[in-house]
Amino acid sequence: MIREGKTVLVLGGGVGGLVAAHALRKQLPRPHRVVLIERSTTHLFYPSLLWLMIGQRKAQDIRRPLALLAQQGIEVVQGEITALDAKALATFTAGKLALVVASLPYKCPAAPYEAAMLLEYFFRKRKIREQVTLDLYAGEPGPMGVAGPQVSRAVRDLVQQKGIHYSPDQSVTCVDPHARQLSFASGLTATYDLLAFVPPHRVPRLAIEAGLAREGAWVPVDRSTLETRYQGVYAIGDITGIPLVIGKPLPKAGVFAHGQAEVVAHNIAVAITGKGEARRFEGHGECFVEMGDGKAGFARGNFYAEPAPTVKMYTPGPHWHAAKVLFEKDWWRR
Ligand SMILES: Cc1cc2nc3c(=O)[nH]c(=O)nc-3n(C[C@H](O)[C@H](O)[C@H](O)COP(=O)(O)OP(=O)(O)OC[C@H]3O[C@@H](n4cnc5c(N)ncnc54)[C@H](O)[C@@H]3O)c2cc1C
Repeated sequence: MIREGKTVLVLGGGVGGLVAAHALRKQLPRPHRVVLIERSTTHLFYPSLLWLMIGQRKAQDIRRPLALLAQQGIEVVQGEITALDAKALATFTAGKLALVVASLPYKCPAAPYEAAMLLEYFFRKRKIREQVTLDLYAGEPGPMGVAGPQVSRAVRDLVQQKGIHYSPDQSVTCVDPHARQLSFASGLTATYDLLAFVPPHRVPRLAIEAGLAREGAWVPVDRSTLETRYQGVYAIGDITGIPLVIGKPLPKAGVFAHGQAEVVAHNIAVAITGKGEARRFEGHGECFVEMGDGKAGFARGNFYAEPAPTVKMYTPGPHWHAAKVLFEKDWWRR
């Protein structure tokens, strides 16, 4: 007798989608199907983009074909393909580089600060640091604010010690590419020669059309089960909006997408097979802070803790950088 299988759809083959698809395939016996839908042919490991930027990785090092998942019994349905261009830095030898975070929230609270420090290192290695001014503008009062004032201060100090000009609380209102000028809501204007811009992030249109999110908001979910307002439909990672007691949302970071994916995949498998106990996502997260010179910092904690997240920053050093390199290796191995 052929037993009827369920089909679990995983929409998006990023960090969360990949972890969820793997965990589901591991826990769900055939004939249950795991189908991953992704517009790109490849999985891109975002944390390595920072190393790509300064030439420590090649484009082919940070992507893998999603078709490889077929070997593990995950069916991949592919849509559109995206592209990467990171050549502007190679030809930049002098002038003002402006790093601008357009608005909150954005992917990875540490990333713009890491990018600024890695760029400083990159220019120093190329012996053109003296000729380059590095300006970092962010529309937030300080780095990694959700992690608390101590972590924020520590990251800010790391950035400023490298001679990077940091302007917090600057929300960009206009970028004039012809005049190479930036205007901010505060009235500040600034010029640049090369612009590194983190564009505004918003929830995908289809999530609004599907009734998963309101216009201008992220997908609300139960913060422990990640279930949306529709029973049996889950949202994980960057697409979700999870308010914390401090009045700020859970940051958009791969580590949360990863943890949430494991919980959701497990709970779907439990619901289908009837085996095991349901789990809850408890809000734990950690993050490397790449600094250049083969060093990194590391922060870890519970972001669901009340009355405020309890996040600790560990003394930076080469060991945390080595740990991130190992993490990248392990990601591809898995
Ligand atoms: C430079 C950089 C460095 C970072 N470093 C870190 C780090 O050190 N640590 C950390 O924890 N996080 C880091 N992050 C953040 C981390 O990459 C994201 O938080 C994580 O990728 C979120 O996972 P996700 O699955 O929610 O979304 P994504 O990984 O963005 O995956 C979403 C997927 O859905 C696909 N998709 C979207 N719409 C459609 C559609 N309509 N049809 C089909 N497919 C679609 C996309 O192509 C994408 O592959 C970094 C981010 C950046 C940009």
